[in-house]
Amino acid sequence: MKIAVIGAGAMGSLFGGLLTEAGREVWLLDVWEDHVNALNANGLTIERDGVPRVVRPRATTDPAVIGKVDLVIVFVKSTQTEAAGNTAARLVDADGWVLTLQNGMGNADILGRAVDPGKVLAGTTSHGATLLGPGKIRHAGTGPTRIGPWAGEDRIMAGKVAGVLSAAGIETEVADNVHALVWHKLFINVGINAITALTGIKNGEILDLDVTRNLSRNAVEEAVAVARAKGVPVADDVVDHVFQVADATAANRSSMGQDVDNQRLTEISAINGAVVREAEACGVATPVNGTLTALVETLQAHYGKK
Ligand code: NAD
Repeated sequence: MKIAVIGAGAMGSLFGGLLTEAGREVWLLDVWEDHVNALNANGLTIERDGVPRVVRPRATTDPAVIGKVDLVIVFVKSTQTEAAGNTAARLVDADGWVLTLQNGMGNADILGRAVDPGKVLAGTTSHGATLLGPGKIRHAGTGPTRIGPWAGEDRIMAGKVAGVLSAAGIETEVADNVHALVWHKLFINVGINAITALTGIKNGEILDLDVTRNLSRNAVEEAVAVARAKGVPVADDVVDHVFQVADATAANRSSMGQDVDNQRLTEISAINGAVVREAEACGVATPVNGTLTALVETLQAHYGKK
């Protein structure tokens, strides 16, 4: 199975690096030239528990040198999914597949407009990674990865891809309802990311004040109402689960918080913004998510203008 990873930042480099270590032919494709040059000159350094090791995936900024692949893994931020989808369409073989494990809602649908939607696999991963600089990442956390067909029915290919990932140490299972999985991960991001990004607090500080807890609860409950209106099965204790995640990651700044801190575009449109968009079709009111989205969009539109 020849694999291309589109978006070789923290997560793309991690998955591409682990698959390379497992002996797969992997190409890392990224628009960031310094990173690609560092990967080709010195390899990819993966730091885990303070211990660095070097792996040598192939890396390029030019999709043309890769040729056709059996599997494309998309790991750009959701703001770049459409561009990545166009690249995926060039790279993926007629019998090939495209997998997204990005955060947010809408990535799989965007990819399904660029390639055959029946060939799109989606899911979630509990692995975490941080970019340390060109050619260097930290493997920050591990946990289960779950994938499945997004619009199609082909669980056989999902099983094959899960097998390839698992053999590389990325323990992966095929999920029965991948839509419910992606929604569930979205609930966590909806309850934590925009609030921490706007206020500068760490994840655990969401739990300090009733007013902040209620804001998070209201945002998550709106998202749950939308998911249920769309027929997605949702457990009753979702808000408790979101609070448990905030507690378990108490000292962390959320990814959206880090994006705002570094004045980078956030994934707001695929997170709280997606709740608002999805709600329009099913008549659910989402004033909290609408307000959080508007505030983050305003903030990021004014980066560097002070
Ligand atoms: P990142 O910013 O580290 O990496 C994204 C990479 O995509 C960058 O290197 C960028 O140069 C590249 N890129 C941008 N446009 C491109 C294009 N058109 N073609 C090719 N490359 C392009 O982001 P990340 O932290 O790896 O996150 C990627 C996705 O995974 C996000 O949706 C994120 O929410 C999700 N995710 C991240 C983590 C984590 O721990 N970092 C965990 C789970 C899920």
